[in-house]
Amino acid sequence: MQKKKIIIGNWKMNPESGKLAETLYKNIIKSKFSSKLDVVICPPFVYLEKLKKILKKIPLGVQNISHKDKGAFTGEVSGNMVYDLGARYVILGHSERRAMGEEDEVINQKIKIALASGLNPILCVGEKNRDDNHDYFNVIKNQIEKDFNGVNKNSISNAIVAYEPVWAIGKDAVREATPEEFREVAVFIKKILSDKFGANTVKNIRIIYGGSVNTKNAQDFVVAGEADGFLVGRDSLDAKKFIKIIEITEKVN
Ligand code: PEP
Repeated sequence: MQKKKIIIGNWKMNPESGKLAETLYKNIIKSKFSSKLDVVICPPFVYLEKLKKILKKIPLGVQNISHKDKGAFTGEVSGNMVYDLGARYVILGHSERRAMGEEDEVINQKIKIALASGLNPILCVGEKNRDDNHDYFNVIKNQIEKDFNGVNKNSISNAIVAYEPVWAIGKDAVREATPEEFREVAVFIKKILSDKFGANTVKNIRIIYGGSVNTKNAQDFVVAGEADGFLVGRDSLDAKKFIKIIEITEKVN
């Protein structure tokens, strides 16, 4: 069976008010999504309840959870709490959180908490720089092995891996990644996961691409890059562009 592609919008710390979040969400869901694709919106926690009430059919995700399940952890939000609010996905290991000091050991705890709470973890991996020695392979292998350390073989198929080369993300990107660069790393990630969990277990894990995805490069990443979908940052804040990326991916399916 062919894997369903997935398009995930990471709104980060945007937009600035509940009213704007509502408008953006309503504009996105105007589009008729086919059931051939999974579309997930990851707003800031505080908008979750409001958006969930507008339309139940688009799954929502969050951009972080606590590494603990409950207790005296001031300012933290647990996996069970966001599941209870309707979230079904969580972005973990994003480079912006790694840059704030989040380490693989903590990401690993969060992945286990996510799975125990019924959330599908979207693990972001990727190197900061590309070097001629191909050290990025070691960086990615290290992240995957540490982040999935001790994760149960039976629950790993609920995870999604997003390859997000840090140098290709956001408005300060050095350049765009190529579909070939993505494909090479996706094959490498599949091999690491197969060695760890067995080829049969991982054949349904989606390996998606993130980093300056837009309406011009999406098709190439899906066709030449064989991406199982996208994690979209900036262009998920523009309903028209986000819908277009979804439509492009749908057509290739
Ligand atoms: C991201 O930060 O995960 C991301 C993919 O952002 P952008 O699409 O803006 O590069």
